[in-house]
Amino acid sequence: MSALHLYNTYTRRTEVFETLLPGRVGLYVCGPTVYGPPHLGHVRGPVVFDVLRRYLEFLDFKVRHVRNITDVGHLVGDVDEGEDKLQKQARLEQVEPMEVAQTYTLAYNEMIRLMGVLPPGIEPRASGHIIEQIEMIQAIMDAGLAYAVNGSVYFDVLAYAQHHEYGKLSGRVLEDLIAGAGNEARELEGQEEKRNPNDFALWKKADPEHIMQWSSPWGKGYPGWHIECSAMSRKYLGDVFDIHGGGMDLLFPHHESEIAQSTACTGHNPARFWVHHNMITINGQKMAKSLGNGITVDELFSGKHPLLQQAYSPMTLRFFILQAHYRGTLDFSNEALQASEKGLQRLWKAAETASGLKAAAHNEYDVNAIVAACAAAMNDDLNTPQVIAQLFEAARVANLCNDGKLALDAANIEALQQLFKVWMEDILGIRTESAGDDQALDGVMQMLLDMRAKAKADKNYALSDEIRNRLSALGLVIRDGKDGSSWSRN
Ligand SMILES: [Zn+2]
Repeated sequence: MSALHLYNTYTRRTEVFETLLPGRVGLYVCGPTVYGPPHLGHVRGPVVFDVLRRYLEFLDFKVRHVRNITDVGHLVGDVDEGEDKLQKQARLEQVEPMEVAQTYTLAYNEMIRLMGVLPPGIEPRASGHIIEQIEMIQAIMDAGLAYAVNGSVYFDVLAYAQHHEYGKLSGRVLEDLIAGAGNEARELEGQEEKRNPNDFALWKKADPEHIMQWSSPWGKGYPGWHIECSAMSRKYLGDVFDIHGGGMDLLFPHHESEIAQSTACTGHNPARFWVHHNMITINGQKMAKSLGNGITVDELFSGKHPLLQQAYSPMTLRFFILQAHYRGTLDFSNEALQASEKGLQRLWKAAETASGLKAAAHNEYDVNAIVAACAAAMNDDLNTPQVIAQLFEAARVANLCNDGKLALDAANIEALQQLFKVWMEDILGIRTESAGDDQALDGVMQMLLDMRAKAKADKNYALSDEIRNRLSALGLVIRDGKDGSSWSRN
C-alpha cells in the first residue's frame, strides 16, 4: 500500500489515514492507572503506539503525543463502585495516594524507557486537571445529559441515546445492556441514585475519610475515571483530533463513555481514528491474579518468576511484541520469548555484518525491493511482523554477500546499511541493548579524550599515557588518528 492505512475500530474498516491538519497528528493514548508495579498487561500498548508514532514521524508528520497518568477516580471495580485503586494501595502501603502515584509513575516510565519507548510530548495527570473535568461535567449537565444526585453526577445514557448512537464503538446494544445491567447492578451500592443502571459517574461524592477530594459545584468529591481522558484530550488536542489509542479492554465502558461525554459536550466523536491493540495471554491463558500468572516487568527482566525459565531483556520483549500484529492476541511463553531472543540476535549480527561489507563492481540483488516491501507492510495497518520478515531477508542478503556468494555494489550496500538503521532502529525502535548505556559512556569517553588531548598539548605525556593505559585495562581502546582520537571497546 502506498499510503498509511489504519484499522478504525469505530467504523470497523481499514481506512486511509488522513490528518485533520496537513502535516500534523494529534495522538491520545490512555496511559496507566499507577497503583502497582508495571506488569505484562502494561507492555504492549506503549510499544505499539510508540511504533505508530515513530512511523508517523518517519512520514514527516509532526506528532503531538499525549499519554495520561490516571492517579485518581479509577475504582477497583472498574465501574462506579468500590474504593479508588490508588487510595486502596495507599492504605495498604500506609503512604499518601500521591506517593503511590509517584512511585508507580516512575516505575512505569523506567520500564518503557528500557523498552525504547519515546516519552510522550505531554503526560497529563488526572489530579492536575480537576478544573477542566468539572467544566466538562458542567457542560454535559447544561446540555441536559447529566444529573446530580446527593453530591454525585451521573451521565444520562438514555437521554443521550435519544439523539446519539450509544454503543457503536464497542458494538454493544443499549437494549441488551439495559436487560443485562439490571441484574448485576442491583448488587452494587449507590446504584439506586442512578436513573438507569447503565448511567455512569462523572463525579462522585467523597466521604469525609476519602483522602483525594476536591470542591465542586456539587460538593466535595472526585471525578469519575472516564471524564479525565475526555477533558485532557480536549485540552491538549482540541474537540476533534486524529487518533485515540488504547487496549481493547478499554472499549467498554471507558472509550464508549469518552465518546458519549465528548459528543454531549462538543457534538463530536473526539477522534477520527480509534485504534485498539489486542491483549496478552500467558501460555494460552488470560492474565489474572487468581491464576498466579501475573508477571511483573521486573520479574521478566530478572527471570525471577516460577513461570520463567530465564531473564528476558527489554529489547527481546519489544521485539517479541512487534513479531505479532497489534490486533492479534499475543501469547507469552518461554519458547516464544527464546525464539524472539535468537531472532533478534541474528538481526543485530546481520546489521553489524552489513556495516562491514565490501562493494563489488556489479550487483546481483535489488535491496530497494526490501525497502519497498517494508513500507508496504507498515502502510497496511502497521504490519510489523511483515517488516520483521523483510529484515530477516535483509539479514540473509547481508550474510550471503559477506560469504562471497552474492555481489552487491556500493549503492546496494549503502541501501542495506540504511535499511537496518531506518527500519529496525528508527521505526521499530529495536536498538542494540547497550545503546542506552553507551550514550552516557560516549559522553564520558569524549570528556576523557578531550582531557587527554589537553594533557598532550601541555606536553604532560605521563598523564596522557596514564589515561590511555587505564582505559585499556577496562577494555576501552583509544586510537590516535590525524583527525584526533577515537575509542572502541576491545
Ligand atoms: Zn482513557
